[in-house]
Amino acid sequence: MQLYKNQSLKIYNTLSGEKENFETIHTGNVGMYVCGPTVYSHVHLGNVRTFMSFDIINRYLLHLGYNVRYVRNITDAGHLTDDGDVNNDRFVKQTRLEKLEPMEVVQKYTVYFHKVLDLFNFLPPDIEPTATGHILEQIELAQKLIADGFAYVSNGSVYFDVLEYNKKGLNYGELSHRNVEELLANTRDLDGQNEKKNPQDFALWKQASPAHIMRWNSPWGEGFPGWHLECTAMSTKYLGEKFDIHGGGMDLKFPHHECEIAQGKASHGVSPVKYWMHANMLTMNGLRMSKSTGNFILPMELIEGGNAFFEKAFHPNIVRFCFLQAHYRSVLDISNDAMVASEKGFARLMEGIKLLPTIEPKTVSSINIQAWKQNCFDAMNDDFNTPILIAHLFEGIKFINLLNDTKETITAEDLKELQNTMAIFVFDILGISNEKENTNNTEKLEGVVSMLIGMRNDARANKNWQLSDDIRDQLLKLGIQLKDGKDGTGFSIQ
Ligand code: AMP
Ligand code: ZN
Repeated sequence: MQLYKNQSLKIYNTLSGEKENFETIHTGNVGMYVCGPTVYSHVHLGNVRTFMSFDIINRYLLHLGYNVRYVRNITDAGHLTDDGDVNNDRFVKQTRLEKLEPMEVVQKYTVYFHKVLDLFNFLPPDIEPTATGHILEQIELAQKLIADGFAYVSNGSVYFDVLEYNKKGLNYGELSHRNVEELLANTRDLDGQNEKKNPQDFALWKQASPAHIMRWNSPWGEGFPGWHLECTAMSTKYLGEKFDIHGGGMDLKFPHHECEIAQGKASHGVSPVKYWMHANMLTMNGLRMSKSTGNFILPMELIEGGNAFFEKAFHPNIVRFCFLQAHYRSVLDISNDAMVASEKGFARLMEGIKLLPTIEPKTVSSINIQAWKQNCFDAMNDDFNTPILIAHLFEGIKFINLLNDTKETITAEDLKELQNTMAIFVFDILGISNEKENTNNTEKLEGVVSMLIGMRNDARANKNWQLSDDIRDQLLKLGIQLKDGKDGTGFSIQ
């Protein structure tokens, strides 16, 4: 269903600083690129928040009936913490620390990342390209930029020429609203600065020092790609020279996304992205959650408990619910109190939903379900305002409780609409995992095993030992162990 035809979605575009009507480049299709994690260590809860913001955006666009191609990369080639300083390459540091091959580090933390996303019920992207898998595309882009006069080679490295870009009438700094002079004043004296024509220039390709283990052949000698170039190479390859949405955390606005705009405009003559979206930060104790400062919590520490910051473990659904109670462009400070409050709110929401099948329909409705439903859509249409949506969902819960107390009435048709709308917004759009379904599946599994135990008992009564042993052995292979006792046969599922 092409719901988007009846809903007017507005998106805040960082580039214009305004909420704009969402109009896709190709009718019915959305190309969305989100900068993925740098897999040199565990993703922390802050990273999870940003990816969750874009999970909601993806989910809502899908619900509206758009054909979404969602690309989220894995940064697995040298990500410089400071542009140009090879000793700051996060992979090199971690490789030394853990005594692992670089690709072992990459694999270890990519697996962890996927595990976390599964736990939090994220929809997977349609394409998850890696930087190391796109070295050729990056080299080709750098060659084109050199050929067109936007980049130059210096001592085996390639730099983007920011002043040349501006001389050609393009405007470096348009996203972050910085000007070149300001950038000049803020550029620190880093390794590689003396190779650059101007301090604002950024690396497209870096020559590898002997100590640098991740290295590839290039026309300029052995080296490795710059971080900004990888996203331009991969987004162009899978979404084209201009696509609808590009997202990431606020901290990526500058220099990463600014550089992507410059690379895109210089190489393809068009601004690469229609809507730039930036998710705000998760803070803890009022400070940005970050690996480098040590102010972070790992997702598993929150889900499994056993850390000093939270009094207990919290289910991933509660974490999701807590995050979504803040708008994606607002800062969210995580705390024990916030989690406890979210747990209470979440329980109230789920209890209300559970009451729905027990409500008796009447001949008239005392609430306008269609108006309530549109309020839910309007909240999401207003730049994905999940806190307002949740407030409307609680309005729905209030109504369900009144119905339950027979203080309000509803027709069968409206009841069905209420039930469907709740399920769509809570499970499909907010991405809360449906525990009821899991419980149902467990119940079904237990039912099937009990049935097989009955069949095995019959087989034993008929002295059909072959069949009874087969049932026991096949179940064991599936991790279900039958235990014969004096009160009959029980089982455990591993
Ligand atoms: P990284 O792996 O450092 O490239 O980060 C992956 C994503 O997480 C990026 O989009 C960052 O902007 C985002 N991010 C990093 N720290 C935080 C934070 N404290 N809160 C929200 N997002 C963050
Ligand atoms: Zn990126």
